[in-house]
Amino acid sequence: MAQLVLLPGKERQLARHHPWIFAAAVDRLEGRPRAGDTVEVVAANGRPLAKAGWSPESKIRARVWTFDTQEIVDDAFFKRRVQAAVERRLLLPELCEQEGLRLLHGESDGLPGVIADRYGDTVVLQLTAAGADKWRPALVRALQRATGCARIYERSDSDVRRLEGLLPVAGWLLGEASPTPLSIVENDVRMRVDIVAGHKTGFYLDQRDNRLLTRVLASGRRTLNCFCYSGGFSLQALAGGASEVLSIDSSGPALATAAENLALNPQLDASRAEWREADVFNELRRLKGKGERFDLIILDPPKFAPSAAHAERAARAYRDINVFGFRLLSPGGLLMSYSCSGGISREHFQEIVADAAISAGREARILRRLTAPADHPVRLNFSEGEYLKGLLCQAD
Ligand code: SAH
Repeated sequence: MAQLVLLPGKERQLARHHPWIFAAAVDRLEGRPRAGDTVEVVAANGRPLAKAGWSPESKIRARVWTFDTQEIVDDAFFKRRVQAAVERRLLLPELCEQEGLRLLHGESDGLPGVIADRYGDTVVLQLTAAGADKWRPALVRALQRATGCARIYERSDSDVRRLEGLLPVAGWLLGEASPTPLSIVENDVRMRVDIVAGHKTGFYLDQRDNRLLTRVLASGRRTLNCFCYSGGFSLQALAGGASEVLSIDSSGPALATAAENLALNPQLDASRAEWREADVFNELRRLKGKGERFDLIILDPPKFAPSAAHAERAARAYRDINVFGFRLLSPGGLLMSYSCSGGISREHFQEIVADAAISAGREARILRRLTAPADHPVRLNFSEGEYLKGLLCQAD
């Protein structure tokens, strides 16, 4: 096995079980591994530290599979890791019942570069690192065994693959498309999941708990859902008895799916819903100009800052939408504001929202800090930036 030798002192991060080895920590490579091969990571003094997947093209040169230097990375290894991840989800009662569930959450499940989401009997697999890409067949076998699912579809078309020198890949790995369109029930609302053309693996499972919270809060409230995608928050707000729900997205296809989702749920009062295709930045300004007010506003934008390099521009974008969010809130109104940007920490995000409230001339408080649900576990000693951050605020 090839060896990746670290520079003196660079073993410290690994000692804390952070699973990434950056190019700047590497002294030399002994051997000629190919992209995705497993390499042994050793300290400058030759002490073995870990086994990792080799990513020659990425700044993250290797991602650790195991810190147990005796453990062999083979089919059985992936079987164990996948089985453990699936069992972890069964520990929590609120996860056992879900038709839409994240089964594998990358680094946090000890599987860097591997995402797997289950929608009913279909699993969608996304591989974003060279090491993960190499073990595709083992992962498919392990998922099939651990879940008994009939279909596995690959959606490895995320932009981050490019940083690894990997081409986009999509297609069926097991079984084939079901004749009926795929949908799941999430908290009593049926939602279509477009695994082929939808965002990510087809659905934003990370907002499940927060969508449920929206339902609890929406009763009697005039609600504005910005960046609504397929309408997850909007439909929960309707289910919770919102007096009216205005949903905005710039994507026509997303809004078409949202309208279709509403039609799938005849128990909801469709006359209270309006879908509007617009740019949120412009539309918020326009709504303010018209003197509109809302009692509940959801801001769930796309990733404005994928990495720290984009943080400054992203911070301005977050600030802008939150200023308008606060300006549009009625007295006592609630704002649910999110960021999924790796380049913006939880603390930074809170500062941005606090500044926005002041700029909008509002006094506000945080009622709750919002995160992703338990099927998106958070790895200790990992950058918190990588995870969903949200704030539920109330303005005076
Ligand atoms: N809240 C959604 C997920 C939001 S994803 C859910 O719970 O499922 C982000 C959405 O923002 C995408 O649908 C994308 O089309 C939309 N979007 C991105 N930039 C936008 C802009 N400037 N104005 C309006 N919508 C935008």
